[in-house]
Amino acid sequence: MHNSGYKHSDIRKNPELQEWFCAKCGAASDHTLKEDAIVELSALECSLHGATSKRLIEKERDLREYHLSKLRDSTKKR
Ligand SMILES: [Zn+2]
Repeated sequence: MHNSGYKHSDIRKNPELQEWFCAKCGAASDHTLKEDAIVELSALECSLHGATSKRLIEKERDLREYHLSKLRDSTKKR
């Protein structure tokens, strides 16, 4: 299920903060519904030098590593 029309094509959930974020640019939304988060994030360009501060991007990059390891685990189980 891919929505390539959205600016942020790699939106994932952060289970600790209960928020959605774009794994590509680090833009985050605190909406709990993915649809709402997509709408909010769609107002921002998906750019590493765009919406969010460098510090936030570094934080999200750490989270991304965490998510990727989780994803690998769940992929294994399937
Ligand atoms: Zn993005």
